[in-house]
Amino acid sequence: MNFLFSSVIPVKGYNRSILYDLHRENYEFIPNNLFISFRRNETLYQITTINKEYLDFLATKDYILKIDKSEIQLFPQLNLNWDYPAIISTSIIYFESFNLKTLTILSSLLVKNIGVIISNFDLRKLKYINDIIQVENIKKTTIQSFNILILNKNQSDESFEDGLKQNPYIKKITYSNLTINDYKNSVNIILSNPNLRLFSEAQSHNIYFNRKLFIDDKGNFSNSLNGNIVFGNVKKISANNLKKVIYSTKFQINWFVQKDLIDVCKQCEFRYMCFDNRIPIKRNEKEWFMESDCHYNPYIAKWKGEEGYKTLTECGIQSNKEGFKINRKKLNTINKELWGDD
Ligand code: SF4
Repeated sequence: MNFLFSSVIPVKGYNRSILYDLHRENYEFIPNNLFISFRRNETLYQITTINKEYLDFLATKDYILKIDKSEIQLFPQLNLNWDYPAIISTSIIYFESFNLKTLTILSSLLVKNIGVIISNFDLRKLKYINDIIQVENIKKTTIQSFNILILNKNQSDESFEDGLKQNPYIKKITYSNLTINDYKNSVNIILSNPNLRLFSEAQSHNIYFNRKLFIDDKGNFSNSLNGNIVFGNVKKISANNLKKVIYSTKFQINWFVQKDLIDVCKQCEFRYMCFDNRIPIKRNEKEWFMESDCHYNPYIAKWKGEEGYKTLTECGIQSNKEGFKINRKKLNTINKELWGDD
């Protein structure tokens, strides 16, 4: 009998599906009529009636495990329980608040990853960051990696960047020509390569907000970059009080709003690999919605800017505090025009 390997997990979207290959950290789009031929059988997905073309595709990708049904218990289900050995995994800090004192307080939370945002580029700022991120300073902390985001600038500065690349702690330098306000307020969707850690986390958490701490230019800290709630100031708070705030339900409000609970995202095939900075709005105990559209419309499988793209409203989809509705007749007509009868 044919099964999918336990690390290959089919995820259904409205218009198409994805096979998440968690072991090889990759993915493949598949049509929904292939998705329906996978049936959960104890611990693995069994491949039921399927045409030769699809079977060959799965075999070429090395997704198929051929075993006797009696052997199925030899292949346990993937453990998707998620936890992390620190209350905060990543802290995003404005350059103005980036100093050893901030890194020390973050280290008391066992933070491992730091993102630094420079809103107005100046070579001296990069030099300052590089001077702080030196082995003799960082080895006293729990921090292992730094990513730098430079705004208001769309080109790298190779003269200095080469120097930064020698620093083993600096993992990535990204440039954007957005201003800080545009960056904070724009819809920012990043799809990462799927992997077991993120996939497990995304089953029960919002992976953009979960275990993140944001610190602005004045040292004020919050649970999101674009949120308006200030929870305190890292310059004035003790490590113990900072911990208390982070453990509060109010601070963690978005952490457990996984994509499976949010309108539109819950029908999107990317939902377990997607970092999305929009703040979910609670409609009731079980439902959340977003106030702005994502750049991807899962109902027609089109990205903004792609030929044939339409907004959710243009597709007959309504998602707001009153509720969620799909005009299926309208959506079917659009999909038929875009994709034909399949
Ligand atoms: S609709 Fe957009 S934000 Fe939601 S899961 Fe899909 S790609 Fe991510």
